[in-house]
Formats: sequence, C-alpha cells, structure tokens
Amino acid sequence: MYDVLIIGGGVTGAAISRELSRYHLKIALLEKEAELAFGVSKSNSGIIHPGTQNPPDSLKGKLCVQGNKLTRKLAKELGVHFEEVGELIVIFKEEEMAQLQKIKQDAETLGVGGLRIVDRQWLRENEPNLNPDALAALYAPTAGIISPYRWVYDLAENAAKNGVEIFLEHKVTSITKDGKNLRLNVSVSSGEEPRSSFAGSERTFLARYVINAAGLFADEVARMAGITDFVIKPRKGEEFLLDKKREHIVNHIIFPLPTPT
Ligand SMILES: Cc1cc2nc3c(=O)[nH]c(=O)nc-3n(C[C@H](O)[C@H](O)[C@H](O)COP(=O)(O)OP(=O)(O)OC[C@H]3O[C@@H](n4cnc5c(N)ncnc54)[C@H](O)[C@@H]3O)c2cc1C
Repeated sequence: MYDVLIIGGGVTGAAISRELSRYHLKIALLEKEAELAFGVSKSNSGIIHPGTQNPPDSLKGKLCVQGNKLTRKLAKELGVHFEEVGELIVIFKEEEMAQLQKIKQDAETLGVGGLRIVDRQWLRENEPNLNPDALAALYAPTAGIISPYRWVYDLAENAAKNGVEIFLEHKVTSITKDGKNLRLNVSVSSGEEPRSSFAGSERTFLARYVINAAGLFADEVARMAGITDFVIKPRKGEEFLLDKKREHIVNHIIFPLPTPT
C-alpha cells in the first residue's frame, strides 16, 4: 500500500519522484524496462531548450522556459554537469530574416532572456566551421546541454536516497478501483537472468494516488484508468551520433530555420 505510485522511470517519472520525496509519503516508481531511462529519455539530444520555436501562448513554451530555469537549479543541487553552450538558429537568405525576427519576438514574449541576432562576422569568429554562406543567426545564450541518462539517474538516485522504492521490470497492466484506493496489477518480467524473486509473476500494488509518467505509452496507461480523451501518435526519426573526438566541430547547439515539417 503506497501513498503515490508513479508509472514510468523516464525523466518525467524520475523528476516527479524526486520532488515528491521531499514529503512524508510512501512512494514507489514502477518501470517496465530493465533499467531506468530506457524509454525516450535514453535517446534524446540532451538539449535543455531555451524556449525558442514555441508559439508564445503555448503551455509547452511556458513550461520550456520554466524548465530551463528549474534544470539549472536542480543540476546545482544534484551536482549534475549542465553546460550553458547557447543555441544558434541559422539563416542563409535575406528573405528569411523576417521569420527569424518573428521567432525572436515570440520567444521574448515567452520570457526567453538574452536573445540577439548575430551577423556573418560574429558567426565567423564564434563558429569557424559553419558554412561560410550563413548570413545571420538568432543567438539564445540560455540553451544548454546535459547528459540525458545521467540526468534521469541523478534524479532517481536522489529520490531513492529519500525513500522512494524503485521497481524495474514491473509493467503495469491494469488499474482498477479498490474502495478509496487504486489497485494496480503489475506483470514482473522474468528476463533472461531473473534478478527478482517475483520473476515471471504478477504483483498487486495499492495506492491513494497514481501518476502516469509512461511517456509514449501514457495513453495506454490512461485508458487503463478509463481516460480515453487522447491518443499518442509517435513518430520515428533518425539522428547521427558523432564520435566524442568531434565534439569541438561546433561551439553552440546549431539549428536550421524551422520548416513546416
Ligand atoms: C530523437 C529525440 C531527440 C530528443 N531531443 C530532446 C532534447 O534535446 N531536449 C529535450 O528536452 N527533449 C528531447 N526529446 C524529447 C525527450 O526525450 C522526451 O520528451 C522525454 O525523454 C520524455 O520523457 P518521459 O519520462 O515523459 O518518457 P520516457 O523516457 O519514454 O519514459 C516513460 C517510461 O515509462 C515506461 N512505461 C511505459 N509504459 C509502462 C507501463 N505500463 N508500466 C511501467 N512502465 C511503463 C517506459 O518504459 C519508459 O521508461 C527528444 C526526443 C527524441 C525522440
């Protein structure tokens, strides 16, 4: 029996469990994979976005700006390496300047600080390997980078130190009401080398509150609780990961001007 059960051990579940571990609550984090961060949180670009490229009235934009500030605070508290490298959105044609100005204006409305348009000369001096045809860029100094997997582990380890119980290879399969509480049926994976004495079995967890932090499966988990008003349609992309020896090719996070797609 728990006060709070958190479903999903990605960055969202880890951050929530760390925050709630400040309180006198019995909390558990349930993750279906063999390790934390094995969902999307293991394979992202590690950018702590400044808040540019979001509509000025969007919740995502507002949370992004807040999240950027909060990440610095949390990184300091947990001793995580956060590097404020800054971001450049680069244009190549004069006619793209209006779009760049619009991105700047929208971001300023959201409260992104320190934005400025830098010219070709600035780019030559600060990004010598950039295509010399680059005309200008929007510079957002508050953008930073962090190790995404380390980040999840630092948050979760701190939560665990504060008493949060972490269960790996625990997949929530159903949520039902049990009086005032919620009953979660959990299937425990046997894995190739079972580490748990519950390997290959079913377990039941009871909780006063359940938090859905199941990432791309959040709609599936919501449906277990009878919530059917949203569907996640994930898309796959590809990224190139360069050797660490190449890390000094650029000094900033570099984006092209966004297109509709
Ligand atoms: C290629 C790529 C690049 C990205 N780059 C960036 C970036 O630079 N900066 C940025 O801010 N964001 C970036 N993102 C987005 C970012 O990675 C995600 O928004 C973030 O990781 C989502 O975290 P999460 O905890 O919500 O989900 P996840 O990390 O997916 O965690 C959800 C967890 O829930 C678990 N789970 C699911 N169902 C169940 C169940 N039934 N029972 C138990 N556990 C369950 C999953 O196994 C998973 O571990 C990028 C995404 C991609 C794909």
